[in-house]
Amino acid sequence: MNVLMLGAGQLARMMALAAKPLNIEVRAYDVGSEQVINPLANEQVYGDLASGIAHADAITAEFEHIDHDVLALCEASGKLKPSSQAIKIGGDRRLEKALLAQSQADNAEHVIVEDEQGFQQALEHLSLPIILKSALAGYDGKGQWRLKSNEQAAQVWTEVDEFFAGSKSLVKQGIVAEQMVPFDREVSLVGVRGVNGDVKVYPLTENHHTDGVLSVSLALTGEEELQKQAQQVFTNLTNAMDYVGILAIEFFQVGNKLLVNEIAPRVHNSGHWTQQGSDTCQFENHIRAVCGLPLGGTELLRPTAMINILGEDQVSNEVLAIQGVSVHWYGKTKRAGRKMGHINVSGESHAQLQQRLQAVADLLPESAFSDIKAYIGNLT
Ligand code: AMP
Repeated sequence: MNVLMLGAGQLARMMALAAKPLNIEVRAYDVGSEQVINPLANEQVYGDLASGIAHADAITAEFEHIDHDVLALCEASGKLKPSSQAIKIGGDRRLEKALLAQSQADNAEHVIVEDEQGFQQALEHLSLPIILKSALAGYDGKGQWRLKSNEQAAQVWTEVDEFFAGSKSLVKQGIVAEQMVPFDREVSLVGVRGVNGDVKVYPLTENHHTDGVLSVSLALTGEEELQKQAQQVFTNLTNAMDYVGILAIEFFQVGNKLLVNEIAPRVHNSGHWTQQGSDTCQFENHIRAVCGLPLGGTELLRPTAMINILGEDQVSNEVLAIQGVSVHWYGKTKRAGRKMGHINVSGESHAQLQQRLQAVADLLPESAFSDIKAYIGNLT
């Protein structure tokens, strides 16, 4: 079989690696060059999208910010899974909020802002502090504001208005103004839904961020109540979209309650630990789902965590001497803050996992990993 992936980054590469043993070839459409490549060899296979679509048995996506005309072409072939609507929901916070309302999934109080009147409504309806997030993808790291006092409002509106004016998107840009949630921690659920509606979810993952980027994910155990809540949200959301494939839900945990922050209609960084921590990793399960194959087991085999390698193109090979450690590089050119690879760490017990995480952390340079080292240090 042949799967066409929309997007040609590390997620496409890891899906290609996971698909190989099933005799499934992944070809990736690079939205920049508009060519279809082999993501393992980084070589062109087809010169355009139309050939990629014609040769594919199934089409799917590794990211959600895809031109709508590309999605329409793929959908017209009848091969696209999940649907273009599900992918669009992941790329537009307004559609996402509508899905959460339709599925009765708890989330932060919010107001959709598309003009100054909407901004004033947000100020009236929400109490400070407020976070404002661009509805569509921001550019150059722009597109999020935090409003802590009324004095800042005029300045923030000026910036938002400029942001709207600078949008090059064919879809009208907007903002979701959201009440800041005093959360205890951020967790996520990665799960898969098959073509026949079967659902399997991995254990919830605790996520730590460094400068706003995911840096450590730890698979959780002994959280039956939270897991049940999260699984119910997953089932409701994916049923509402008749979703096929892996989907990730990011939550804020407030006490014993989970509030949805956002969803990603694709494999997710917080699910990379499944490569070593589960029978079937998220990449293989996504491929299985979109190809109509039976889904693989999602249980936690052993305590596992993932450390992201951000902005560095090497780590000491000594980490490989620690048992239960796997290093996954993405073959990308080094750039500050860029996701270059990740390290999965497993143990037979939590104590052993913590010991091994600490041993890995000890080998990582302070300069690039200080925040990750501090987080791991606090676990032990
Ligand atoms: P997002 O792009 O929605 O994932 O937001 C980026 C980060 O901002 C999240 O990982 C949170 O740490 C923080 N954040 C986003 N929305 C809220 C909120 N409503 N309340 C508190 N923190 C938030």
